[in-house]
Amino acid sequence: MNKKKVIIIGAGIAGLSAGCYLQMNGYDTEIFEAHNISGGLCTAWNRKGYLIEGCIHGLLGSEPSHLLYNLWNELIEMDKLKFVDADIKHLYIFEDGKRFTQYANLDRLHKSMIKLAPEDKAIIDEFIGDIRRLQSVQISYDKPKEFFNLPGKIKMLKAFPLLFVMKKWISLSSQDFSKSFKNLLMQDVVKHFASPLLFEMFVLSEMDLKRCGYPTIGSFEFSKLFEKKYLSCGGKIHYKTRVSRAMIVDNKAVGVLLENGDKHYADIVVCAADGKTAIYDLLEGKYISEAVKKEYNSADLNPSKIQISLGVNKTFKEWPRMVKIILSSPYTICDGSQYNSLDIMIYNVDEGLAPYNKTLLIAQLDTKNGEYWSALRDADYNKYKFEKKKISEELIRILERRMGGIEGNIDMTDVATPATYIRYTGNWRGSVQGWANENIFKSNPFKKELPGLKNFFMIGQWVEPGGGVPNVFQSGRNLAQIICKRDRKRFLIKSDCNIK
Ligand SMILES: Cc1cc2nc3c(=O)[nH]c(=O)nc-3n(C[C@H](O)[C@H](O)[C@H](O)COP(=O)(O)OP(=O)(O)OC[C@H]3O[C@@H](n4cnc5c(N)ncnc54)[C@H](O)[C@@H]3O)c2cc1C
Repeated sequence: MNKKKVIIIGAGIAGLSAGCYLQMNGYDTEIFEAHNISGGLCTAWNRKGYLIEGCIHGLLGSEPSHLLYNLWNELIEMDKLKFVDADIKHLYIFEDGKRFTQYANLDRLHKSMIKLAPEDKAIIDEFIGDIRRLQSVQISYDKPKEFFNLPGKIKMLKAFPLLFVMKKWISLSSQDFSKSFKNLLMQDVVKHFASPLLFEMFVLSEMDLKRCGYPTIGSFEFSKLFEKKYLSCGGKIHYKTRVSRAMIVDNKAVGVLLENGDKHYADIVVCAADGKTAIYDLLEGKYISEAVKKEYNSADLNPSKIQISLGVNKTFKEWPRMVKIILSSPYTICDGSQYNSLDIMIYNVDEGLAPYNKTLLIAQLDTKNGEYWSALRDADYNKYKFEKKKISEELIRILERRMGGIEGNIDMTDVATPATYIRYTGNWRGSVQGWANENIFKSNPFKKELPGLKNFFMIGQWVEPGGGVPNVFQSGRNLAQIICKRDRKRFLIKSDCNIK
């Protein structure tokens, strides 16, 4: 029997995941990738002996008790990876020298918060208690939400008590929560928690259980494992091959037109690339629901990043992995973004990113002004370089004041901006996780299929609000299940992909 042909646009984690599972289930797939490497946003790069981590801080499902672990294991050998779990989520450093250690272990965190602010015991108990409640239920990742029938919904009821907890914290900003504390230092710490509070709590819940460790191979090699699996399943990847149009006949996708003019035909086309490109360029805006159009017009996106990476000839062994530097006055950069605090990641030889006795420091500044950076780079490349240098110099000054031993020990500086993410991955405004996190809890208007169009599917961070590597990996897996079901095939997981 002839295999169905599937063309996948984009070799990020979503595209590779869909490719692996479709190959396992007897489909003949090919991936067209604009860049000369796979991985998309899930990447890392080498500079002067350092491996600059460009994505994963912690991988959800890094430990066997998490339900995602088994799914990762379907494609990669998890027990062969080394994960490092941080003992401290953040060390807070204030301008006046005050510090607060936010332990990852909930018992230690609870004790240290109460020791600092005994007058706030009631609210601290409530906060930690609700994080523990979040730990009590795991959401099942096995089936796509598109399959949710009555038994599935009943199963979900198990998570019902969680909904109250989630509802309580999802609408609360860290600024507002800080007002519940009487202790002034505790107020200052809480003000800098992630907003809405639920995100801070979710990360703490997983860090406490050591289920979101850092994979020491780094994000690029992590992505390569998926590429390797895909190729071993018989998939093909065409690098440096940009798709410019989806070919449509009678409202059915029949293939893709490449930038070089070549045409490739398929039974199904899957776009695992930027959502705006898919809807407005590949499909010329012809297939879009009003609800989705509204989202594209309001553009409530996860921010892009300015990532400053410094190679420092010093060990910083006594420092935890994550430091939060609280600034006494806001730091403003050329695109208008302002920062009240800076998160610094400290990687040394244990994580495999820095040479022996050296350290890689990474700061990631969120910005919603992605297009400013692309326009600046296009209009005046020297000014673009000047602004990057200015940002790294200011960061070095701040770090010197708070941590010491930085100036004079720098042997590598690298600055990636939203223009970098746009150039290398095509993501709209350089957004690194697609739609804003808050959209996770809204009813999701982004479907894998578009109204009036057959045989064309979208996957990845532009249809899974909040994005992130686990989410887009499941997006690809879920689509393979949907396609199998439509073709009345049983969805198979094969460790050996040589299916005839
Ligand atoms: C700095 C940073 C930190 C992050 N931190 C985390 C984290 O800690 N945890 C986490 O889970 N996630 C994190 N993420 C987010 C995560 O990397 C993304 O959400 C996820 O990798 C997106 O995967 P994707 O496959 O949907 O899309 P992408 O990775 O964007 O892949 C899309 C691919 O499509 C290709 N493409 C685009 N247009 C075309 C075209 N026309 N033709 C052919 N190919 C095309 C692109 O080149 C790209 O390779 C981070 C990202 C960044 C950049």
